[in-house]
Amino acid sequence: MLFGEIAYGPIHSRRLGTSLGMEIMPLEHKLCTFDCVYCECGWNEKVDHPQLPTRDEVLAALETKLRAILPETTPDVITFSGNGEPTLHPDFLGIIEDTCALRDQYCPAAKVSVLSNSTQLGRQEVVQALRLCDNRILKLDAGTDEMMRRIDQPVNSDLTVERIVEWLAVFQGDFTLQTCFLRGSHNGLVIDNTTPEELDAWYCAVEKLRPKQIMIYVIDRKTPEEHLEKISREEMERIAAPLIEKGYEVIISA
Ligand code: SF4
Repeated sequence: MLFGEIAYGPIHSRRLGTSLGMEIMPLEHKLCTFDCVYCECGWNEKVDHPQLPTRDEVLAALETKLRAILPETTPDVITFSGNGEPTLHPDFLGIIEDTCALRDQYCPAAKVSVLSNSTQLGRQEVVQALRLCDNRILKLDAGTDEMMRRIDQPVNSDLTVERIVEWLAVFQGDFTLQTCFLRGSHNGLVIDNTTPEELDAWYCAVEKLRPKQIMIYVIDRKTPEEHLEKISREEMERIAAPLIEKGYEVIISA
């Protein structure tokens, strides 16, 4: 499933409410630093010169969309996600600055949200851009390197959970941690971030980061790896329970 427009929707998001979607990755294929086994956009494709929308094109598309939908529909949120990792855009900071300015002008109550896989947090301008947003929804799918690599298949195979946690720590808990729970297999390897050992390692990362909100979710649509299992609502509630007991706000999408 690919998003074919720079500004699309608004759509009702099970996690975010009435969401005006922003796509700043290529419109024809996914471009990401992960290749998650559950990615709804399919597998990464090798493309030599990916075409990204320019900052001006993004600004124009958002303004046109806001003029078209207001005042009948006011978005709760303007959300950057879509066909890959939005923070890869070389003008990501400028695009977020423009978006915040348009939001202030047209729909000041709307939140600006970014869903990111956390892999670009070592870049100062990405951290700066994310600080301008109202919601930073940042991925950590496992507490161990082995399971993170099996699930997310990072393009940079040296990426570690420790490094991601270090990067996430700069927000001092002012972000939403997002984790997809799943089981299955891929290329003959077991995928399971719900075992007691995996959960312990993930809880440990959560305790280091103390995020203001935790979103845990299950696979919901067709996935590129077919041998994946959707975790039940009851099991997700069991996963969330120790964190809720400790006072964390946990949102379960299952
Ligand atoms: S981080 Fe998101 S876009 Fe990238 S592969 Fe994973 S699910 Fe797909």
